[in-house]
Amino acid sequence: MRVLLVEDEEKIASAVKRGLELKGYAVDTVADGDTGLSYAIDPDYDIIILDRMLPGSKDGLEIARAARAEGQQAPILILTARGSIDDRVEGLNSGADDYLVKPFSFSELVARMQALMRRPPVQTGTVLKYADLTLDPAHYEVKRAGKSIKLSSKEFALLEYFMRHAEQILTKDMIINHVWNEDAIVMPNTVEVYIGYLRAKIDRPFNDKTPLINTVRGFGYKLSR
Ligand code: CA
Repeated sequence: MRVLLVEDEEKIASAVKRGLELKGYAVDTVADGDTGLSYAIDPDYDIIILDRMLPGSKDGLEIARAARAEGQQAPILILTARGSIDDRVEGLNSGADDYLVKPFSFSELVARMQALMRRPPVQTGTVLKYADLTLDPAHYEVKRAGKSIKLSSKEFALLEYFMRHAEQILTKDMIINHVWNEDAIVMPNTVEVYIGYLRAKIDRPFNDKTPLINTVRGFGYKLSR
């Protein structure tokens, strides 16, 4: 899952980025409102976290409003030092989906993010399911046919992206844009390499079953049975 974090407090930005990356998210950080807006209209983000007070001509609420006006559909979470009722209402009117008052704990941030991203129809409860495969984003657990599978954080992020878009063709560009951040050095064969890792864990040990990660020649890949 690709995350945009617009936060000018460097300590918070770097701690959140590091924590989310350890959990397999691809995170871009921006420290001012004007740059923040230029990033926030990018449809490749799966969730956007905006600090409310930012240097530059745009604050977090203005970014949220402008991004929505440009068609941004990703969930938006506002961070703010202020927690009055009026602020909450104003935040939600701006097009943001939720509000987190500083100081916040990292685990609370992650819980709110997961709640906001828990919207696609393939999901039942908090666990993603496809065929005999299950992925629990909250507990970093993957099982096929009831058997636990250990994945690296990148493999997990890739599989989560597939499961949230089951039976859709995902091009290499779509995969790169959702699973890696913009600073990542992604070689032309990086996606193939990670698809290979995933197949070795998800499909190959279950060779009596239908492979789930399928190549759509000339287009990309698809989670299908
Ligand atoms: Ca700030």
